[in-house]
Amino acid sequence: MESQEVMTLLSESNETPLSARQSPDDEDHPKEKCGVFGIWGDGDASRKTALGLHALQHRGQEAAGIVSFDGRRFHAHRDMGQVSAIFGKEEVMIGLKGKGAIGHVRYSTTGGTAQRNIQPLFAELAIGGFCLAHNGNLTNAASVRDRLVEKGAIFQSTADTEVIVHLIARQHGKTMVERLMAALLQVEGAYSLVCMGNDCVIGVRDPLGVRPLVLGKHGKSYIVTSETCALDILGAEFIRDVEPGEAIVLNEEGLTSIKPFPASPHRFCVFEYIYFARPDSCLGNRSVYAARKQIGMELSRESPVAADAVIPVPDSGVPAALGYSEESGISFELGIIRNHYVGRTFIEPAQRIRDFGVKLKHNANRAIIEGRRVILVDDSIVRGTTSVKIVQMVRAAGAREVHMRIASPPTVYSCFYGIDTPERSELLASRMSEAQMAQYIGADSLAFISIDGLYRAMGLHGRNNLHPQFCDACLTGDYPIKLSDRNARRNQNTPDGQLSLLSEFA
Ligand code: AMP
Repeated sequence: MESQEVMTLLSESNETPLSARQSPDDEDHPKEKCGVFGIWGDGDASRKTALGLHALQHRGQEAAGIVSFDGRRFHAHRDMGQVSAIFGKEEVMIGLKGKGAIGHVRYSTTGGTAQRNIQPLFAELAIGGFCLAHNGNLTNAASVRDRLVEKGAIFQSTADTEVIVHLIARQHGKTMVERLMAALLQVEGAYSLVCMGNDCVIGVRDPLGVRPLVLGKHGKSYIVTSETCALDILGAEFIRDVEPGEAIVLNEEGLTSIKPFPASPHRFCVFEYIYFARPDSCLGNRSVYAARKQIGMELSRESPVAADAVIPVPDSGVPAALGYSEESGISFELGIIRNHYVGRTFIEPAQRIRDFGVKLKHNANRAIIEGRRVILVDDSIVRGTTSVKIVQMVRAAGAREVHMRIASPPTVYSCFYGIDTPERSELLASRMSEAQMAQYIGADSLAFISIDGLYRAMGLHGRNNLHPQFCDACLTGDYPIKLSDRNARRNQNTPDGQLSLLSEFA
């Protein structure tokens, strides 16, 4: 028996796609950090997908969804909130029948309750039902969308991902895979996609491989997912990264690899190592934890300072602080304690509430801090809100000196490839010199790792060794994929800054 909450989508029917039911006035943001998971040929496909999404929860806490396929029908369940709350209900899981499933976790710091954008998206195409989960951001979505709307297309969400669905619907290939590939040749941007039709799951990575996607195997079933931690939770075997520009098709015959795009230099997002991926994941043959620790060690070599304790800003500053401490010989101390029970959805984007959020999240450990010279290590400074609060808090707890060390170069540019960053004007490092920033956050000294130091820590000899091997646009302004929509807006003399699909189309 099916639960009422689980929508069953008849692939033969003309049932209205889910997104049509959803509120048209939600705020949304085009640049979402997300996690994806797909599995084919497994009797427990949706349960394994739910577990995989749980492991990917750090990639998105705002909403989650799963679509399964039972050989005849698609079943979907999507909701706002965290994976354990949405999929921890037996009545929901019972409804998600079938041996194929894909899932998505979604993050948006803009705080909109955008039900209509919860993925996986689903559409009835001429060739059958099709669902799609996307991590990344398309940089020509607005122009493709304009073109499609002019021809009569009716969009149901503000998500850039929906243009892919519309493009697939217009292709004429014999199989879903052919149609998907033909559609992807028309989009620009960063994408790791996991899709499902009525005979396969497909995982695809954009030609530059900006966002992660890995391949694994559990029993006889193959899995494509954002990070290896989603394989570990299942005890699944990690096979390899999906290569940039590669599509992996999982079906009854097993696994097929296709390379439909012209070869490009690979540009995996360096910020995945700095902040975003889980430290127990291994991406691009590198342990994320080991990379962060090495960055901390290099930071200590580049910017040493006499002090009594190295204190991480938890949790994301912990591996770099361990590296800094190991290299400097200064003891590592938990001088700031994080409250793990603060829901991220509670932290709304308005500055007023963000300020409050930081206080809710961290507390200074006076016993460690009082009367001491401390080095605070964090992974990055975005708007500077966290640093200001943390430095104030540590001083109030009696620190004699406060030195801030940041395990990334200054974040000076916005990301248009799937990591949510504010407009350039809100990035502290785009408005201030390092000395001004030190003064602003109230630290006795402030230092960031250099870009060459970052790459030395990653085992490369500087950024320009061979060619940039990573996308580091947020640090250097070197955008490896065309920003067609943004350039079009600039040419129309609209204000500089982030593209907003909502303002374009709502
Ligand atoms: P801020 O307070 O705006 O300077 O943000 C800096 C903090 O946010 C750091 O402690 C990071 O761990 C974290 N952070 C870095 N990048 C992001 C991002 N894209 N989204 C959310 N948090 C981030």
